[in-house]
Amino acid sequence: MKYYSTNDKSVRVSLREAVINGLAPDNGLYMPEYIPVLPTSFFESLPEKSFREIGYEVAKNLIGDDIPVAELRKIIDHTIQFDAPLVPVDNVYALELFHGPTLAFKDFGARFLSGLLGYFARQQSKEITILVATSGDTGSAVANAFFNVPGTRVVVLYPSGKVSEIQEKQFTTLGGNITSLEVAGTFDDCQRLVKAAFVDEQLKSSLFLTSANSINIARLIPQSFYYFYAYAQLKQSEKQVVISVPSGNFGNLTAGLMAKRMGLPIQKFLAVTNINDVVPEYLATKFFKPRNSQQTISNAMDVGNPSNFARMLELYDHDFEKLSKDIYGYYFTDDSTRSAMQSVFKNTGYVLDPHGAVGYLGLKEYLQNNSGYAGVFLETAHPAKFRDVVEKAIQQQVELPPRLQEFMKGEKKSISISVNFSEFKSLLPTLLT
Ligand SMILES: *Cc1c(COP(=O)(O)O)cnc(C)c1O
Repeated sequence: MKYYSTNDKSVRVSLREAVINGLAPDNGLYMPEYIPVLPTSFFESLPEKSFREIGYEVAKNLIGDDIPVAELRKIIDHTIQFDAPLVPVDNVYALELFHGPTLAFKDFGARFLSGLLGYFARQQSKEITILVATSGDTGSAVANAFFNVPGTRVVVLYPSGKVSEIQEKQFTTLGGNITSLEVAGTFDDCQRLVKAAFVDEQLKSSLFLTSANSINIARLIPQSFYYFYAYAQLKQSEKQVVISVPSGNFGNLTAGLMAKRMGLPIQKFLAVTNINDVVPEYLATKFFKPRNSQQTISNAMDVGNPSNFARMLELYDHDFEKLSKDIYGYYFTDDSTRSAMQSVFKNTGYVLDPHGAVGYLGLKEYLQNNSGYAGVFLETAHPAKFRDVVEKAIQQQVELPPRLQEFMKGEKKSISISVNFSEFKSLLPTLLT
């Protein structure tokens, strides 16, 4: 399989190049040159397949022969280390994607990426250095995914005092091949340092640098696995299926659309956001108007210019009519989100996180006007990750899962640096062994 850039359809690069580049040199996003439909036999035996078997067959379908079969199996085993159960909630289903090490769906993408880069690292003599700027969650997902992967080293840059203690502990306590730099500045400063490193000729010639940002095709591919797995668990295939995706950068939704392209019979996708409603607005008006993001309680979805929108358009040949047949948009305020957490807890005992609550609201609204569907919404994070907001809404304590408690016991190790690039530049080579 080759990959093209959404900015230039004539570009063709290998999986290795697409994954190591992350973003295409023309700033486009990489897409597979075609998306093969899976055979009927795959769908017939879907309900009996394990999550890992599904992951393997879907990945093989999208990647082809670029990775040897035994290696791909290993990468899938490394990616799928935890379940994604479909849990009944109030006449619909929550697809719980938060059972990974950092309690959010981003663990899937980060682990698949680390598996692939670990494989590529073994093909060369130079260690691969992954630079990641984080406002909290990406750093922890990436650090935990790459921890102890031979041939790789992760350097996390984060703004001092601006991430929660629990987020900070999830990447600063690991040690080993994970180094944390505490930057006396903002998230934007961290991002600026990372970007400056990538264009610095001296660093580029001495180190093998790559990023792990969310637009990497390797983070998208594994996110399609769990749509198949959700369908396998539904076991009521006589009903049409609608899946509601609480969205920010629209990677998760794009992965769902790719699953549909591979033949998964999902009738409708719901693109549901908080008040950062650029995509729902596009679906209602045909106009895409990116803008600055606004802060909400579902803050992992506070995105004003969703990067995967370019991929969504590609999947539908930039045809609004086609796209808007498959995707419906909704958005909700923080007040509605809090009420949903409150009422679902009161009526069912289920604790939603603020992002899942947004997805739940979209699904309920759709089903009010369209009956006869089996409805699924993605629960993208564990409620304990957003403990303050959730506890206020449900008026009850939320238990920290044991994995998170373990992190809290670890000792923070980080190196403090200024926002000065030359300081970062001279430090970087000394961190690597
Ligand atoms: C990243 C994230 C989202 C948004 O996912 P996209 O793929 O960016 O649309 C939703 N919920 C949680 C908890 C997240 O971390």
